[in-house]
Amino acid sequence: MKTAAPGRQRQAGRSADPSPGGGGRNRKENRPASAAQDVLIAGGGMVGASLAAALAPLPLQIAVVEAVAFGSRSQPSYDDRITAVSWGSRRIFESIGLWPQIAPEATPIQHIHVSDRGHPGMTRLHAEEMGVTALGYVVPNRVIGRALAGFLAQQPHITLLAPAKLTAVQTQGDGVVASVAGERVRTLQARLLVAADGANSQIRAQLGIAARTWDYGQSAVICNVSVERPQAHTAFERFTANGPLALLPMGEDRYALIWTAAGQRAQALLAMSDAEFLEAAAAAFNGRCGKFLKAGKRHAYPLSLVRADTQLRGRVVVVGNAAHSLHPIAGQGFNLSLRDVAALADTLAESAGSGGDVGEQQRLAAYVRARRRDQTGTTLFTDFLTRVFSNPLLPVVWARNAGLLALELLPPVRQLLARHSMGLTSRMSRLARGAPLTAGNGVPGSLHPHNHGRVE
Ligand SMILES: Cc1cc2nc3c(=O)[nH]c(=O)nc-3n(C[C@H](O)[C@H](O)[C@H](O)COP(=O)(O)OP(=O)(O)OC[C@H]3O[C@@H](n4cnc5c(N)ncnc54)[C@H](O)[C@@H]3O)c2cc1C
Repeated sequence: MKTAAPGRQRQAGRSADPSPGGGGRNRKENRPASAAQDVLIAGGGMVGASLAAALAPLPLQIAVVEAVAFGSRSQPSYDDRITAVSWGSRRIFESIGLWPQIAPEATPIQHIHVSDRGHPGMTRLHAEEMGVTALGYVVPNRVIGRALAGFLAQQPHITLLAPAKLTAVQTQGDGVVASVAGERVRTLQARLLVAADGANSQIRAQLGIAARTWDYGQSAVICNVSVERPQAHTAFERFTANGPLALLPMGEDRYALIWTAAGQRAQALLAMSDAEFLEAAAAAFNGRCGKFLKAGKRHAYPLSLVRADTQLRGRVVVVGNAAHSLHPIAGQGFNLSLRDVAALADTLAESAGSGGDVGEQQRLAAYVRARRRDQTGTTLFTDFLTRVFSNPLLPVVWARNAGLLALELLPPVRQLLARHSMGLTSRMSRLARGAPLTAGNGVPGSLHPHNHGRVE
């Protein structure tokens, strides 16, 4: 870092609220109203907070601004959903040092059973066949939120401001200036702003970055269920005339059910009594898990594909759902974003290590280029699955059944599919390879030897 780096011009501050998962505010204000950062992350959801955690070993001053307090019931990222975390994402979390906090509540997926209701097409994927102990893990979003908040609270040079909203941003000279509204309005300066403020990103809009949105006209109805004959560590993906369903194992005898359905049908699923809903779900799985016994509260998420036209504008990088928001059919949205996060962390480590500027354009442009292939491939694959498996036309149904049968009969193709869903097909970042992130050859944190607290 240059000596003029904003993060080094300030004095040490104090630690944030030590109980970030506790549902309260995640902020202590004991610093002047204006402060300079190396990296300012707008949005402390699953992706923004993961980026901050990934950057923790680097000698950078980082601030995360999150509109809704961690642990709050209304937190939109760490809500009642679960996330299917791929094997590759587990490795990234492990390298960051987060996996020990997540693992106790993560259910390994060792088998995936894919079938098409009323048709013979089906295939199965097994962890053993891939030489791993799990194809992925089912983790409640709230567990990820708790782990991230606890981890960030322990980092001396990461400031977490929540609840606080980034309301305006301007590029100024060799940095950005952002207005942040929390208990009071303040101005933050940074070398680099990362917009991780979700699919409806206001920062993206403010910067004039267009985003294309394709509304699938579908919603994902989610809830937890328990079934008569649970099959340990087995996930089911089932395609039906009423839309695809996934059953993801949560512990020994519960599942997270995700039922994707077109608008009116989704409304009908929400309106059903528990008994009607359980019967409809059991029928959709054709008795494979026996009767469906209990259902938790149902929630619906409207689904669309969102793609930002560019992910770099001056000193602003766009990540997560703000950059690309996918249909959850293949459980790839967060996993893809975590691979972006790990690659961006590599880029910022290089900048920090060579004494450079984290907002340096050539490096950031190289990051965006390097991630294009994985992003495009994953987006097209997910969109293809959505269209093919929501299509009732007979030729399409025959083709997808032939595809499923071919997968079952051709292990190499099946393994390629499994490697893709495990997040192992793209160029691997240091964190994905299990290598620790350091600034070049520097000693982590060495640029802030006296900074043992956080700043406003
Ligand atoms: C039903 C469903 C199931 C899914 N299942 C999977 C799965 O199994 N596997 C998988 O990989 N992916 C899955 N996904 C996708 C995954 O949930 C998303 O990829 C992920 O939530 C994106 O995180 P994010 O941080 O980019 O955005 P968000 O989760 O939207 O978080 C954005 C954050 O920014 C904050 N914010 C917004 N504006 C501001 C502002 N101006 N200032 C400060 N803060 C702001 C918000 O409060 C929020 O906390 C699923 C999605 C859905 C809908």
